[in-house]
Amino acid sequence: MDNFKRVQKIIKQLNIDAVLVSNGNNMRYVSGFAGETGYLYISEKHHAVITDFRYTYQAEAEAEGYEIITIGSGGYEEAIKEILNRDKVKRLGFESEDLLYSKYEHLRDALEGVELVPIKDEITSLRRIKTKNELEYIKKAEAIGDKVFTEILTFIKPGMTELEIAAKIEYLLKIYGGERSSFPAIVASGINSSMPHAVPTHKKVEVGDFLTMDYGCVYKGYCSDMTRTIVVGKANDKQKEIYNIVLEAQLAALDAIKPGLKGKEIDKVARDIIYKAGYEGCFGHGLGHSVGLFIHENPRLSPSEEDLIEDGMVETVEPGIYIRGFGGVRIEDLVLVTENGHENFTHSDKTLIEL
Ligand code: ZN
Ligand code: ZN
Repeated sequence: MDNFKRVQKIIKQLNIDAVLVSNGNNMRYVSGFAGETGYLYISEKHHAVITDFRYTYQAEAEAEGYEIITIGSGGYEEAIKEILNRDKVKRLGFESEDLLYSKYEHLRDALEGVELVPIKDEITSLRRIKTKNELEYIKKAEAIGDKVFTEILTFIKPGMTELEIAAKIEYLLKIYGGERSSFPAIVASGINSSMPHAVPTHKKVEVGDFLTMDYGCVYKGYCSDMTRTIVVGKANDKQKEIYNIVLEAQLAALDAIKPGLKGKEIDKVARDIIYKAGYEGCFGHGLGHSVGLFIHENPRLSPSEEDLIEDGMVETVEPGIYIRGFGGVRIEDLVLVTENGHENFTHSDKTLIEL
């Protein structure tokens, strides 16, 4: 992987001598090293993974072509100091959106004579457009989610708790090939479904409840994300009304997706439909987000997103209506932005399912 060369370009543009990458996903993206602790160091001449003994062998295996530096008793500060001296670094970039302030302080105190230069999301942004391999992994992760949805429908019975259903979803995600959940599964029933990011509780699912399930898994490091809302038992008129508005908004937004639009323009397509139907104030989150090594990436599809959507980005499309004291609906698909529109990675049924 020659991604370090892309980082070297950034170094030049930012007029710094080297960069210390602390964000674990960026470290993995650029070098291949998926360990949980360490830094990636890249200068014009060198690219190295700095880690501790627990990860040395892993780094050697995963970060092909990288110098692997195992820290000694002097810790990270000492190891970093050495490599900076070797490269005569005067200006060292660090990821200001990731590095803990306490770690920054340690570095600052240890690295006398070196200017620490905060950089923003320049390296994270390298991950926006997905490669063929990345797309394959995300697609596979989403396919696992689809498979779990089919099976969970045969499992859900009134009287089960939200936690039981969430546990079953997470179990099945692993059984079908996921490495782990991409985030703790959301299972929200009845009035709990009015909270977009409800945490599963001991509440039992009752006949007549909306049941929202939002989950995903990780496959080869890459996340998936999907949401379906069903009704346990027969849906009443109000439930049908809300469901159909959310579905209409979702389909319209999917239809609108194409490269060259701003994230906020796609958000507006869904938002207008929901607001015009009389549910202004009931859709308080953005329409979607990008997905990759991390579950919530940029650019977003949100009212404030000025960035353009581009061919090769992966975005969720997840409008919702949430009514206090009643319940809520969210429908979420994961799509690839293509040259002419989109390719939907999610294939689970979106007609209102009454269990
Ligand atoms: Zn989701
Ligand atoms: Zn999502």
